[in-house]
Amino acid sequence: MQTIEIHGKKFLTSIPRTSIENEVKRVAAEINQDYKGKRPLLLGVLNGAFMFVADLMRNLDIECEISFVKMSSYAGTTTTGAVKQLLGLNESIEGRDVIIVEDIVDTGLTMQSMLETLKGYNPASINIASLFLKPARLKVPIDVKYSAFTIPDRFIVGYGLDYDGLGRNLPDIYDAAE
Ligand code: 5GP
Repeated sequence: MQTIEIHGKKFLTSIPRTSIENEVKRVAAEINQDYKGKRPLLLGVLNGAFMFVADLMRNLDIECEISFVKMSSYAGTTTTGAVKQLLGLNESIEGRDVIIVEDIVDTGLTMQSMLETLKGYNPASINIASLFLKPARLKVPIDVKYSAFTIPDRFIVGYGLDYDGLGRNLPDIYDAAE
């Protein structure tokens, strides 16, 4: 097991890049199947989902488009629970089949407020694809149609996810050591 340090905090390897690759391919295969004959708009949630959405899209063989949005920021190792605002949506999603692509659904509050906002723009459908899901932390019921990994209540970094700005470039996933 490899230990690394980010901002003085220790992290241990937990999910190797090969497992991530396999699970991303599995999720892409489900989307290819479900959206056959459609042209979904992937809405990548910055910053954390950038790597996931790139690899996911690379594995889609249906017609699809991509755009990026951002919710207000997240600092440290716990979710603030503050109301978040959707930024950067500058095209119409009316009548579109939208797939929100998120890095991790933790309390679900971010996805809840994003869904509420997006539904107001009358898309044909909205589903969520999240790389990670922490069911033990959910505070609101969120239907995550596609998820690569269900993980315990631990803070993770790597593959796009950061610890105070660092660690996004790590190709594997690391868990915070106690
Ligand atoms: P939620 O609103 O569901 O509580 O929080 C979702 C956001 O919190 C994610 O998009 C992510 O940015 C951040 N987050 C939640 N858990 C973790 C974690 O374990 N590691 C990292 N790096 N970010 C997390």
